[in-house]
Amino acid sequence: MLGEIMTFSLPTSSKLSCFCAILCGLVLSAGHAQTDFPIADAHIHYSHDSVEYTPPERVIELMRSANLKFALVSSSDDNGTQLLSELAPDLIVPGLRPYRRRGELSTWFTDDGALAYVEDLLATNAYASIGEFHLYGESADLPIPRRIVELADQYNLILHAHSDADAVERLLAQNSKVKVLWAHSGFDSPAEIADMLSKHDRLWADLAFRSEVGSGGQLSEDWIELFTQYPDRMMLGTDTYTPERMYFIPEHAEGARVWLSSLPADIAEGVAWKNAYNLIMPHWEANRPANLGSPNATANCGVSDDDNTHIVGDEPTVVVQALKAIEVSEPFSVLITVCDTDVNDMKIKLNASMPAHGHGMNYEPEHSVMEHTDSQLKVQVDGLVLHMPGNWEWLVELRTPDMKTELTYDFDLQ
Ligand SMILES: [Zn+2]
Repeated sequence: MLGEIMTFSLPTSSKLSCFCAILCGLVLSAGHAQTDFPIADAHIHYSHDSVEYTPPERVIELMRSANLKFALVSSSDDNGTQLLSELAPDLIVPGLRPYRRRGELSTWFTDDGALAYVEDLLATNAYASIGEFHLYGESADLPIPRRIVELADQYNLILHAHSDADAVERLLAQNSKVKVLWAHSGFDSPAEIADMLSKHDRLWADLAFRSEVGSGGQLSEDWIELFTQYPDRMMLGTDTYTPERMYFIPEHAEGARVWLSSLPADIAEGVAWKNAYNLIMPHWEANRPANLGSPNATANCGVSDDDNTHIVGDEPTVVVQALKAIEVSEPFSVLITVCDTDVNDMKIKLNASMPAHGHGMNYEPEHSVMEHTDSQLKVQVDGLVLHMPGNWEWLVELRTPDMKTELTYDFDLQ
């Protein structure tokens, strides 16, 4: 846990050289293949039997230990999704499954009760998607699936469909705006997936339960070709459809990192998390209630300094907020907000070092811009690990074409 804030100071020359040493280290390591990608898991279920089997706190721990950037979660019934969402709003993106219990996957599309259940929950909670649902062939044109497509449009939701290509095409044809995330990529071959992606620009595909992809750490030529041809349309998923599979989340992420590292870095990063982020987050950002414990809502510049929130600079105001309590050797993420200033063309870089030891972190953190308006910039930094207890220092570099500011902030980690 973090101790009280100790000092805020402008960098001295020794701090600057320390900072430079870290940056130089980063530059030297930039050419190496990255193997510690954050992962977005677009296919998690936490259904009623899983809730009985594994408490939600443990599930969140498993996801954190997997260094997940976020998870798209849908559950039968919805209770499991809500439990996780309340515990970790920074990590969980809720999807709405039309199933009240396990075992409704072949009946829901003719069941008025399932539709009423969906309509009730849409009126109550916020979601990013409807699904994952199972639907094949001409069943996609039945009245209940048609209504689901209308609801997806009305509530700005992605359809997460476990379907054959025929049903996917029927869903897309019903509405000119709705997007489909094709669960398991339809269990189709890379060539068949490529064919569907070429025909439909509102289609994305997840690789859940496709253990043949990268098996043994090796990617076959046909998958490499698909990822190269469609670098921004494919994403990962574990598919925790049974209670035991919740425990497979870290192993799945680790396995994916192995085969991802054989792809060019930008393609790997896309499949690892950016494609899921770019598809899902705009929906979630638009749909989720403001100020409901989301990291973006709480790390505004009206925050007060506490164990997890550090006001690193006051002109401009710069806040570094840890998204969970920082613990030795546990990966964590922070959100940096710069507000009430002209942030046009501003870039942020965060690092941490131990001034007394003259060294920094052993890993390079990942920076992602979450929001960039004229007067506010939010950047999420993932993959931070402070590997020993003691006195640490945030190093925040703000850079525009005309200026460079470096801010430091001391804190104790016990
Ligand atoms: Zn599934």
